[in-house]
Parts: sequence; structure tokens; C-alpha cells
Amino acid sequence: MNYQLKVYNTLTKSIETFVPIKDGHVSMYVCGPTVYNDIHIGNGRPVIFFDVVKRFLMELGYDVTYVSNITDVDDKIIEKAKQVGMSESQLSTKYYDAFQTMVKALGSELPDIMPKATEYVQQMITYIDVLIKKGYAYETPLGVYFRVQKVDSYGSLSHQNREALEHAVRIELDPDKEHPNDFSIWKNTTEGLHYESPWGKGRPGWHTECAVMNHELFDGMIDIHGGGSDLMFPHHENERAQALALDHHGLAKYWIHNARLDVDQQKMSKSLGNVVFVKDLDDIEKQAFRLLILAHHYRQPIQYSDKLLEQYMKHYVALSKKIGITLLELKALGTSSNQIDTLFMEEIIAAMCDDFHTPTVVTKIFELQKSLNKSKDLNEQAMIINTFMWLLPIIGVQVNFNVDDDINIYLAWQKARTNKDFNLADMYRQQLMEKGYI
Ligand SMILES: [Zn+2]
Repeated sequence: MNYQLKVYNTLTKSIETFVPIKDGHVSMYVCGPTVYNDIHIGNGRPVIFFDVVKRFLMELGYDVTYVSNITDVDDKIIEKAKQVGMSESQLSTKYYDAFQTMVKALGSELPDIMPKATEYVQQMITYIDVLIKKGYAYETPLGVYFRVQKVDSYGSLSHQNREALEHAVRIELDPDKEHPNDFSIWKNTTEGLHYESPWGKGRPGWHTECAVMNHELFDGMIDIHGGGSDLMFPHHENERAQALALDHHGLAKYWIHNARLDVDQQKMSKSLGNVVFVKDLDDIEKQAFRLLILAHHYRQPIQYSDKLLEQYMKHYVALSKKIGITLLELKALGTSSNQIDTLFMEEIIAAMCDDFHTPTVVTKIFELQKSLNKSKDLNEQAMIINTFMWLLPIIGVQVNFNVDDDINIYLAWQKARTNKDFNLADMYRQQLMEKGYI
């Protein structure tokens, strides 16, 4: 089988055939969180989606390097640290750890490298210095700004012309800025974490952090730069402008943006009180949430509600139970299979090659579950189970059973039923229920 992965590239606004820069290897950078709070379910979307991107690329045989940064120096961190009476590094460490725990709890693997901005400050200072020397940046009493007028293609990632761009930025109060779109790459300040620099004490701008970590961690242009669609402008546009200026390339070959997730038709916000934190979902809800996310194409906005999560809870629990009990039944009968339904497999790969069409994959999972419900043939059941065992890791949906240990409970349950010892049978049934088989 020969597969051709197609991806939607925000930069060209079109579906393109995916051809990595280096044969057999994919480099991917996804903008990570500012660690000052627990992540909400909207932050969970890229955590799940880009994990699936990596898993699928690996399934296609690529070697993948996935980098996702941690912003651990920021005004929001300084403010929150003051509020709660912690040092900034204590606060950012706390939420960095919490973030990693939630990534894993959502069924995602940690990215290969998670660089922290504070570990790259010297490199950022050097980078900014070169931008100034090359005429792409200038100093004002408040810090250093990037000169966007010097980059011809500025605005091409977010597809905005110069006029629209000028309206897109908030009015800033630095009278020394040459152009409204010029963005801060160094802010002079002595408040909170700050560093010595040739321009005074201060700290780097967020857009520069990502540009520099890309520059430091990868050798030239990368294949995929990802993140939420809200990062397209100004963040990604500005990251790209710096790479064009200093590295003479547009940072990434493919720009992939996931759409947003709203709660009850509204943007999640503290003031509306509708923020749903990932940590507040229980273990099964987190798995159901993963399924919910993947049941929507990544470029399609999600209207989240408790009712929608409940729906996917039912789907997930039914799926998990069916797989679990079938595993026990097959084990008890000594039936297994190393075959995969090849037609099904081809359909899954074709769907994923169609710009990561996970909704088709989720539909196919339910179809496969229906076939398992209907099947009376043990060998067919074993093949379906084996097909699930191939598929579920590709999308990171987990079913957690320890069949080797639990088979004894199952056998004892069956024996008690045969002996019509209903009290004993009920006790074993209860144990299997607690373990999620029934
Ligand atoms: Zn970034």
C-alpha cells in the first residue's frame, strides 16, 4: 500500500501533499502553554490533536521530533505569583508539573522536547542583537521592537493586507514605535523575573521565545508548526517574520491550526464562569473527552457541553466494556488472532491521510464495535479485537484491562454460574463490574 498524506496548510490555504524536508523524518513544533494556571479543555484540544498527528506520522513510518515549548516568564505569571504569594519559579514549576500530568491523563504522550523559555534567555538576547544589527529591530526607551515593514511577506500567514493588519493590533502607548504592527521582542522592566541585556534589564517577548527555540532546537526550517487558530495572528505571523529576517526561511513548511472549542456556545472565560478544567474531569471523562475531540475534525470548531461529554461517555464506556469482556471470553477459550481486518485498516489510513480526518476514524470504531456485537464467530471476534489493538494506539484512546490477572475472576464467575451458586456468581460479577468489564 502506498499512502499519500494530505494536509491543509494555513499558509497556502490549501490541501497539500505532505513531503517532509528531510526524507523519513518529521520535525514538529507546537506552541505550548504559559504555566500560570491549570489547563482548561480548550487547551486540551491541541494536546490531543497534535499527539495524534505524531502517532499517525509514526504509523506511516516517519521518525518524528515533536517539540512543544513552555512559557515560564510572562506578565501573567508575575501577577498570579504575587496574588498567591509564591515565587514565579515556584508557581511556574507547579503548573508545569500539573500540565505534564494532564497531558498524560488525556492519553497523550509528552512531546519529545519541552523547552522552557527561561533556559533560552541568553540565546534570545543574542538573537535580538543580530536582528538589531541587521536592521530588523530597533531600540526605544521601553525595549526593542521588530520592524515589520522590512519583511515583505508580513501578513501572508494570517492572510491580511497591510491595512487590515494595522487594525488588527491593539493600540500601544509607546510613542517611539515606528509602525503600529512593530512588536515587542524585548521589554525593559525590573518587575518580576528579569535579565541583564545590552538594552537594559528586562525580559524577551513571547513571539521571540518561540522563534529562538525553533532556531536553537532544529536545524533550519521545520516541517510542521502547529497551534490553536487563535495563535495565527499575531503570534505565528510574528514568529515567522523573525525567522524570515534572521534565518531566511519562513520557519515551517506546513502551518497547521486547530479550531477552537467553545463551552455552551460561548468562548470560555473566567468572567463568564464557564471555564472547564481538564483536572476536573474524572478518568473516564478524560478518555471520553479525547474521543469527543477526535470525533470533530481539527479544523471544525467544537461546541462543548456537559450533554455532549455525556454522550461520548456512553460511547466510550460501551466500547471499553465490549472490548474488555470479549478479551476475557477469548482468553477463557484460548482463542486469539494476529490478523487485522486489512480493508478496515486501509480505510482508517485513507481517512487519516485525508488531512487527519479523525471523525471518520471514530465512526469506523463504532462500526467495528457493532460488528463485534453481532459476531458469533470466535475467530472473527479475535480478529476484530486485534484490529482494535492496532487502531486504538494510533489515536491514543485507551482501554485499560489486566486480562491475565482478571481471567481467574471471570473463570470463577462462569463456574459459579454453571453450579447455580448465584451468591458467589454475583460476587464475581461485582468484581468484574468494578474493573469495567461489565
Ligand atoms: Zn509559539
